[in-house]
Amino acid sequence: MRLILLGAPGAGKGTVAKMLTAIDGSVQISTGDILRAAVKEGSELGKKAESYMKAGELVPDELIMDIMGERLLEDDCKAGFLLDGFPRTIPQAEALKELLAKLGIELQAAVNLNVPREVILDRLTTRRTCEDCGAIYNVKSNPPKVEGVCDKCGGKVVQRADETEEAISKRLDVFNEQTAPLVGFYEKEGLLLDVNATSSDAVVEAIRKHVGV
Ligand code: ADP
Ligand code: ZN
Repeated sequence: MRLILLGAPGAGKGTVAKMLTAIDGSVQISTGDILRAAVKEGSELGKKAESYMKAGELVPDELIMDIMGERLLEDDCKAGFLLDGFPRTIPQAEALKELLAKLGIELQAAVNLNVPREVILDRLTTRRTCEDCGAIYNVKSNPPKVEGVCDKCGGKVVQRADETEEAISKRLDVFNEQTAPLVGFYEKEGLLLDVNATSSDAVVEAIRKHVGV
């Protein structure tokens, strides 16, 4: 599959991407995961990105395009890719369009995961993430078997630094201002698949039907 997953923070992009990778071996490419790994490592990229992320603001487009320009060339993308958290701005979407045209790669759809704002807020404040493998948990609906320990890799399960109430509210504002316009962009491109994302299983079904896998 070659898809973009669009949707507010907490809409379930990461969860859906992980479910889809299991179907046909496509890779999940999450710019958020790449950036968090860079911050943890303390690399040049991480140093540049950290303050933006903590505040819930977007990392500059040039940095993101440098990352993605390289990432999409890697071998594992040949099996397909699920873009999770990218593109996030109109300039990123335009740069991606150019990049894919250059590489001769065609997208199958930009999937818009629609979720009511109350659900988003509830999900984000109760979400926990494994520091090591990125597995996603929820303290209410899907806690790890041992509190604070990842079922999959034994890593530490934590609340992300940008999941304080203040940063969450900032991320939602940034989403509404800068990322929501991508829905119109992909509608014009004839690529939009709009889905009700209250259930991740239903989203996966709708995508399978749409792309025929
Ligand atoms: P969520 O979708 O839950 O908000 P992500 O893990 O996708 O979180 O992203 C976390 C943070 O990483 C964002 O708030 C932003 O600072 C940065 N980030 C991730 N992807 C991008 C992107 N495509 N463009 C700019 N900043 C990004
Ligand atoms: Zn883990």
